[in-house]
Amino acid sequence: MKTQDYIELENRYGAHNYHPLDVVISKADGVWVEDVDGKKYMDFLAAYSAVNQGHCHPRIYKAMAEQAKRVTLTSRAFRNDQLGRFYEKVNEITGLEMVLPMNTGAEAVETAIKASRKWGEKVKNVPASQSEIIVCDNNFHGRTTTIISFATEQQYREGFGPYTPGFKSIPFGDADALADAVSANTVAFLVEPIQGEGGIIIPEDGFLKKAQDICHKNNILLITDEIQSGLGRTGKMFAYQHEDGVQPDGIIMGKALSGGFYPVSAVASRKELLGVFKPGDHGSTFGGNPLAAAVAVEALNVLQDENLVEKSAELGSSFHSRLNTIKSDYIKEIRGRGLWYGIELHPRAGRARKFTEELKNRGLLCKGTHEHTLRLAPPLIIQKDELDWAFDRIESVLSTQ
Ligand SMILES: *Cc1c(COP(=O)(O)O)cnc(C)c1O
Repeated sequence: MKTQDYIELENRYGAHNYHPLDVVISKADGVWVEDVDGKKYMDFLAAYSAVNQGHCHPRIYKAMAEQAKRVTLTSRAFRNDQLGRFYEKVNEITGLEMVLPMNTGAEAVETAIKASRKWGEKVKNVPASQSEIIVCDNNFHGRTTTIISFATEQQYREGFGPYTPGFKSIPFGDADALADAVSANTVAFLVEPIQGEGGIIIPEDGFLKKAQDICHKNNILLITDEIQSGLGRTGKMFAYQHEDGVQPDGIIMGKALSGGFYPVSAVASRKELLGVFKPGDHGSTFGGNPLAAAVAVEALNVLQDENLVEKSAELGSSFHSRLNTIKSDYIKEIRGRGLWYGIELHPRAGRARKFTEELKNRGLLCKGTHEHTLRLAPPLIIQKDELDWAFDRIESVLSTQ
């Protein structure tokens, strides 16, 4: 089969809920992927930050293969010998007391929403079914029916109603609007410390701290969705750590939690929050299975042992400075933190898709977010010379001089 045959096969039988670049990948190693014709590309998207550790990391592979030989799934009807290690590891990186494992990011967000609502009723004494959760405009927290109910991006919602009530949205980064939106029934503020799908949008310095103060004053939980921003992407283990004195009540993780091998997500929180769940309140057949737990522990060990968080900070800021040297009439703004950048293009430059296709032709894979923003997010194991290689290609497609 040739590239076109694979594409036709997918298009013929698959739902068209994505519009992928026309590259059919059959192998990957580290920052490189290879297509069915043997052409190599550098991956500058890292599966939306799920492969921060690089593709097919040998240590994670080994942990997965060894665990797959022993036991993969017990269900939570029984205990397994890997889950406790996973909890302990998540506690180590978050400092939070309790963990609840799920599979996909959206499920972990749903878990945080359910926990917050139950906390509202049981601990804060909000009247039954009156809980409110405040979120931010331009958010992305996943694709379930409840989560898209509080999206402000029309395409995420359109046609999928009726919507789940109980959410209020404020402009991202606007602490005054948060204070105004608070009511006696507000139980949580759910926020991405940096909006990923929204276009790598970084709030003003101090926003999270102010938000936390408002939450503390009003007995409201601060829940950060670190599914994309966490685990080293921004040059800190979690993006909220860019601000001093912030300690979320709950942190939602996913994506790189498994280094791309397997869907693993989790919520970590203070005991008071996840502690509201009693046996039978919530669960998942695959959540917390021994294969997932073994893979996630090793994925986190790799992050730490290879100093990927520090690497992201160091390589990230020098690459950011280099991006700023590109002389281009197309670029409106370059935002970024760690190895994570949004290059916002002027509408006159054309759509981001045009540039991602040109980059693909030059051997670099990345994806736009929204119409006019290029998103760059290489695996954190990337080397300096590989970044130089990528920079030349990015400059060549964006430069107008
Ligand atoms: C990707 C993402 C999710 C959803 O994760 P899935 O695994 O795709 O369900 C939720 N929140 C944020 C911030 C994300 O980037």
